[in-house]
Amino acid sequence: MSPGSLSLYLHIPWCRVRCGYCDFNTYVLGSAAPDLPERYQAALLAELGLAAERLGPRRVETIYFGGGTPTLMAPPAFAALLGRIGELFDVAPDAEITTEANPETVTPASLAQLRQAGITRLSLGMQSAVPHLLATLERVHTPGRAVEAVGWARAAGFASVSLDLIYATPGETLTDWEHSVETALAAEPDHLSAYSLIVEPGTRLAARIARGELPAPQEDAMAERYLLADERFNAAGLAWYEVSNWARPGHECRHNLAYWRSGDWWGFGAGSHSHVAGVRWWNERHPRTYAERIEACAMPVAGSEELTDEDRHMETVMLGLRLREGLLSSALTASEQTRVPALVDDGLVTVMGERIVCTQRGRLLADGVVRDLLD
Ligand code: SF4
Repeated sequence: MSPGSLSLYLHIPWCRVRCGYCDFNTYVLGSAAPDLPERYQAALLAELGLAAERLGPRRVETIYFGGGTPTLMAPPAFAALLGRIGELFDVAPDAEITTEANPETVTPASLAQLRQAGITRLSLGMQSAVPHLLATLERVHTPGRAVEAVGWARAAGFASVSLDLIYATPGETLTDWEHSVETALAAEPDHLSAYSLIVEPGTRLAARIARGELPAPQEDAMAERYLLADERFNAAGLAWYEVSNWARPGHECRHNLAYWRSGDWWGFGAGSHSHVAGVRWWNERHPRTYAERIEACAMPVAGSEELTDEDRHMETVMLGLRLREGLLSSALTASEQTRVPALVDDGLVTVMGERIVCTQRGRLLADGVVRDLLD
């Protein structure tokens, strides 16, 4: 990212159904007031104007539509939002413009329209290739659909396609995980994300585990799954560049790198978080409240905080150690620097020039490495 550049995140909070493990800020489209999606989209357009008034014509290098399921929004709505962004900001000619997509919500025709609207990168939520695990997660798509969608995305002209996977779902065997990894690789994506399942309190999945209907994810299984994924992804030419993300060279997600490098971003829409010049704020969480605030010509902000030097330091260390580019040694305090040799001796980090980089073992224990290092 060039200095002073800005990333934009647009939250589209609708889903067809709510998956049993999900605690994101999403709402079932069929249960929303019929006029709300349209009001919401108008509010997004208005918030873009509010941001441009405050920031001026900043250079925008990445734009990301997340959710929810952004692809429940019709392609012309993407074109309208991107058109407005182009009027208000200085969008780089090679800007990375991503949308997340649930495989069930895209078709060859809709992907061609999204490409035409200006989307350059597609991130498909595959999660698993195993039917019983998709059922446990309460995902609505069929196992082969994500792989099929990668082919459609290629035909539509997307130069960068990503698949998301989840491991350690209750009931998953190592063979199940290997099958998901190999199925994902056979689709030849440019980028893969693999996260262990987090059982979020308040979800249906958490309730089923609490009732004893499903086993809780096993910690030791997580390490085994991670190592298998890392080995297979690397062998297929997708190198790790963040603890849970792998890419072919040049296909690293620039938008997420902007977050991880503590860049400036503005998050539009319900519940979105922003970070500009060391100040963080977050919007009203419910799409209706968000739209009402914007319709009343007010900023939709629900809260804000200014980062202290200590907050920034902690974030720099935490995020830097998750990246393959590593953490600049000079970012550490003098006493923190004295702890690095012990971490090297334990095989958790290596020192490469001016940077400290986690080893594979260090990646598995990244939270502990950060704890050991910080004052
Ligand atoms: S599709 Fe994604 S955002 Fe929507 S409920 Fe499922 S996991 Fe959550």
